[in-house]
Amino acid sequence: MSNPTTRKPAVDGWFTMPEVGSSEAPTLIGCRCGRCGTYVFPPREGGCPNPSCTSPELERVPLSSRGRIWSYTENQYAPPPPYVAADPFEPYALAAVELEAEGLIVLGKVPKGIMAADLKVGMEMQLELDTLFVDDDGTENVVYTWAPAAPTGGDDR
Ligand SMILES: [Zn+2]
Repeated sequence: MSNPTTRKPAVDGWFTMPEVGSSEAPTLIGCRCGRCGTYVFPPREGGCPNPSCTSPELERVPLSSRGRIWSYTENQYAPPPPYVAADPFEPYALAAVELEAEGLIVLGKVPKGIMAADLKVGMEMQLELDTLFVDDDGTENVVYTWAPAAPTGGDDR
């Protein structure tokens, strides 16, 4: 295809989408209660979910882009509607990653080619963007994924 590719988030407002080639890293967007500090993902309208807090509003905030695997699974079958699955369907892994700073667990797909056998509980993951599917007009629909984090340079032999 010779046309410049258009990209849009497959879900609006759940993550930032830096330009292709930008050095900026994508970030999840959640909500935080200014009164009790409770974090929520995905972002939503309305009051604080904490039953012992009466704050009527939440603030949009960026969330950590790294976390550790709390649980994971592998989908061997296409998800039911309204999820749009690749056709032909390819099995993929899902990771539930715990954001330490926020104490939130965020479920996300793992990039293609990385399966459950490659994952383990406690593994450090980082947020990346991936194309979920391409529209008929060539627009890429982008989602966040959890990819194994790049080593931070520590030598633990
Ligand atoms: Zn609250």
